[in-house]
Amino acid sequence: MAMMAPLENVAANAVPVQPDIWIKRFPQLEPVLSGLGDRGRYDVYETTKLETWSKGRVAIVGDSAHAMPPTLAQGAGCAMMNALGLAVALDEHESVEEALKHWEERERPLTDHTRRRAAGRHTAAGQRHGLG
Ligand SMILES: Cc1cc2nc3c(=O)[nH]c(=O)nc-3n(C[C@H](O)[C@H](O)[C@H](O)COP(=O)(O)OP(=O)(O)OC[C@H]3O[C@@H](n4cnc5c(N)ncnc54)[C@H](O)[C@@H]3O)c2cc1C
Repeated sequence: MAMMAPLENVAANAVPVQPDIWIKRFPQLEPVLSGLGDRGRYDVYETTKLETWSKGRVAIVGDSAHAMPPTLAQGAGCAMMNALGLAVALDEHESVEEALKHWEERERPLTDHTRRRAAGRHTAAGQRHGLG
């Protein structure tokens, strides 16, 4: 279960989770929230940038290649489009190595742009809330 609250709501962001705060807002989740105990954890979003998406005949697609914060809701979209682009490139080239090279050249600029924008929005939100 992923729970999200505005950054300024310190109590709602506390770990261990303070169930009373959440139950007040989501009474229907009381059975789950009251049983959480100390199993809650606080995660921050991460960004992944690799030097290259492939080596030899092996390629990676999706978050393992270009994880981004969900601020623009584009992570899975990029993963799916890059996978489709990979299939197209493999159809277009005789050699897998050539296909992977052209695939990354074609797909990467838009993905890198999206990842940067998503990370920028994440950082800007943090700065607005005094988190540096
Ligand atoms: C809160 C949130 C909201 C999001 N909203 C959107 C959205 O609206 N639109 C959008 O496009 N994207 C969204 N995303 C991003 C999207 O979820 C990811 O970009 C997408 O799931 C990446 O898919 P993936 O297959 O690359 O990786 P994953 O979905 O992470 O899949 C990787 C799989 O590999 C498994 N695995 C890991 N290690 C091993 C191992 N050693 N052996 C075997 N299996 C392993 C994992 O269990 C997992 O099932 C959101 C992300 C978050 C966190």
